[in-house]
Amino acid sequence: MAEAVGGPGVTAGRILQLLRKESVSRSQLARITGLSATTVSARLELLLEHGYVVQDSGTRNRGRRPVGVRVDPDYGRVAAVHIGTHHTRLGLLDAAGQLLMVREYDMTTAIDHEQYLVWLEQELRRVLAEGVSGSQGPPLRGIGISIPSPVDAETGQLVDPSHMPQWSGVEPVTYLTESFDVPVLADNDATLMAMGEHRMNYPGVKDMLYVKIGSAVGCGIISSGAVHRGRHGGAGEIGHMPTETVYRRRCVCGRDNCLEACLGGAAIVEHLRSRGVEIGSTNDLLEPGVASHPEVREILKAAGDAVGEVLGLLTDFFNPELIVLGGNLARSDIVMQALRVSLFARSLPLSTRRLQVVPTINGANAATFGAGLMVLDHLLDAESVDRQLTTSG
Ligand SMILES: [Zn+2]
Repeated sequence: MAEAVGGPGVTAGRILQLLRKESVSRSQLARITGLSATTVSARLELLLEHGYVVQDSGTRNRGRRPVGVRVDPDYGRVAAVHIGTHHTRLGLLDAAGQLLMVREYDMTTAIDHEQYLVWLEQELRRVLAEGVSGSQGPPLRGIGISIPSPVDAETGQLVDPSHMPQWSGVEPVTYLTESFDVPVLADNDATLMAMGEHRMNYPGVKDMLYVKIGSAVGCGIISSGAVHRGRHGGAGEIGHMPTETVYRRRCVCGRDNCLEACLGGAAIVEHLRSRGVEIGSTNDLLEPGVASHPEVREILKAAGDAVGEVLGLLTDFFNPELIVLGGNLARSDIVMQALRVSLFARSLPLSTRRLQVVPTINGANAATFGAGLMVLDHLLDAESVDRQLTTSG
């Protein structure tokens, strides 16, 4: 049940925020907001009229429960684009945040960014035209993009993308806004993974880290219940923290022994290949036949140790109550076990007393959910909804 928000300042837009979390009846809304039943009805009528909300079907006048009102999933759809260094995912979500469909492509950022954006636009158009289960459905309202690089929140521009330097300064937001004429927002992948996981699975948690251990290593930060990005979107770039390891390497950032350069998934794959281990991608590291190879076990343990050590430092600094681990390597028992031992050995008992370290629930769709929710937050924001209701009468 939503908390009391009280007062006459509870606009239609504010009421919509309550209905995004769950279905609420008119009488409950009056109680929560402190508004009169008449005012609640008037505000709901506005929201109903503009297609933002819908009455729960099937319960009207029949069930014992009063009729609830909730966000209309068919208010519109949002597209979520997850640009990965080794693949791309396109998803469609409804206005209530349900993932309707998702497709994965082998398309990578290794190609020229202009070519990539042209491909992305075409594929998005194809997905939208085909719709969900063959039906095109409600209109596209916005697009969210997850990018494996720091992103300037104001411009949507990529900031020093170490894995795809040829993309520096590229503006996928501008490109897609011009192509689709809907709001387009972009953010860093680990940040979006943190946001999606927090909102959907741990809404009550105040301080949380989402650590992605895949080809690259990154961290999304939730501080006091809100996303923390830093001044230029660079917060959480833990892949460039130094590590003590025998797997020493020069990093793309120009320094030696960055965590990701030595023991990120891509580095591990490269190292093992150079040692004659037949391996295609980080996914293969999870195959029992591969994972039992002594050299593979050794480097996976080293990766777990190194990430755990960095997380131990972060835990003492940030004192989170929850650390969620995602990315391919977080599915490796060897990595996870070593990580836990090293994290808890490295940090103070004070920091870890109530710390929980858990695997992601959103899994491979973590960034897709985050990108979709980011756009829905923007579209259904109380102030913009109120503005919309006023300007369109
Ligand atoms: Zn580095």
